[in-house]
Amino acid sequence: MSINKDNYNTLLQELPDNVCLVAVSKTKPVEDIQALYTLGQRDFGENYVQELTEKESLLPKDINWHFIGHLQSNKVKYIAPFVHLIHGVDSFKLLKEINKEAAKNNRTIDCLLQMYIAKEETKFGLDENELRDILTQKNSLPNVRIRGLMGMASFTEDMNTVRQEFRNLHSIFKTIQNHNIGIDTLSMGMSGDYKIAIEEGSTMIRVGSLLFGARNYNQ
Ligand SMILES: *Cc1c(COP(=O)(O)O)cnc(C)c1O
Repeated sequence: MSINKDNYNTLLQELPDNVCLVAVSKTKPVEDIQALYTLGQRDFGENYVQELTEKESLLPKDINWHFIGHLQSNKVKYIAPFVHLIHGVDSFKLLKEINKEAAKNNRTIDCLLQMYIAKEETKFGLDENELRDILTQKNSLPNVRIRGLMGMASFTEDMNTVRQEFRNLHSIFKTIQNHNIGIDTLSMGMSGDYKIAIEEGSTMIRVGSLLFGARNYNQ
């Protein structure tokens, strides 16, 4: 077994009641997921559609599967039957496609809008204008429910920058919470910065390497 049980238990002890832990299992074998499941973990996050659908078919049905990667519209159909929460929605076009596939499955799919908060050019996400735009159109899509926001801080050693980016995201989150019903989830924080994220108001952390060990390739 290659999961880190001690880190898992420590993390659970530190976790405030209102913060959900998503165990990020991308690139890791189903045996590792099963091992963490046996310890009681039910929320798992994956980045790739094919990997997620394969694992979903092999693992217990009461797992809450979070899709945390960059989702292409043409692949929504594969995860629509079972996905619990889609974290990375970054366009209205994608939201429309999720709505369509959710309707086909007689479901309402929970989604988070991904905000661009980092300084890096390569990260996906919306700016505040695009966010407002999507929120004004969301009522035309009855089979998706926008639950909140997701963001990734800059990949840097400078924890002040990270903290500032999380603080900024939390402030946007608070604003949209005041103007929209049903907004209750702020997904921010990973292995290296989840403590800061929680201090800055995260309600959902996505932790991979701390629980499953380092990945062979960096995703
Ligand atoms: C891989 C990944 C994580 C987990 O990263 P760790 O540093 O291993 O905790 C969290 N969020 C997203 C979007 C990821 O792609």
